[in-house]
Amino acid sequence: MRIMVRFKEEMVSNPITSEVILEHGVPLNILWAKVESTGGELLLEIPDEKANEIVNSFRLRGVEVLTGRLIDVSEELCVKCGACYSLCPIDAIELRDGDVIFNEDLCIGCGLCVDACPTKAIKLLKV
Ligand code: SF4
Ligand code: SF4
Repeated sequence: MRIMVRFKEEMVSNPITSEVILEHGVPLNILWAKVESTGGELLLEIPDEKANEIVNSFRLRGVEVLTGRLIDVSEELCVKCGACYSLCPIDAIELRDGDVIFNEDLCIGCGLCVDACPTKAIKLLKV
């Protein structure tokens, strides 16, 4: 499963992700990362069978962990203009027969589509 972990400023220089990997002996696949001196975010792919333990390990270290969907798209507000489509860096938005389809399993929650939407149909759930 995919989880988003958020590090606060004071945690950025700590090797927390490495500690969790060593503690559980499993590889964590980093799908996306944004790390700055003021904080960081990583989107990780983790083994389903170890998900609870890994999430708890991060939380015990004070890291915020988000699971599940990262965006919510309102069918009522979407006018199918396609403005969001070309901005998605990982092709999580598809145009099919005049419809706009969001693949929420692929979404990394970058927020680029949110800012582009003229009707504010997309909400970022991670903030
Ligand atoms: S939040 Fe980013 S990754 Fe997710 S659908 Fe929008 S542009 Fe794509
Ligand atoms: S930009 Fe907004 S209104 Fe346009 S297709 Fe995307 S979600 Fe729908």
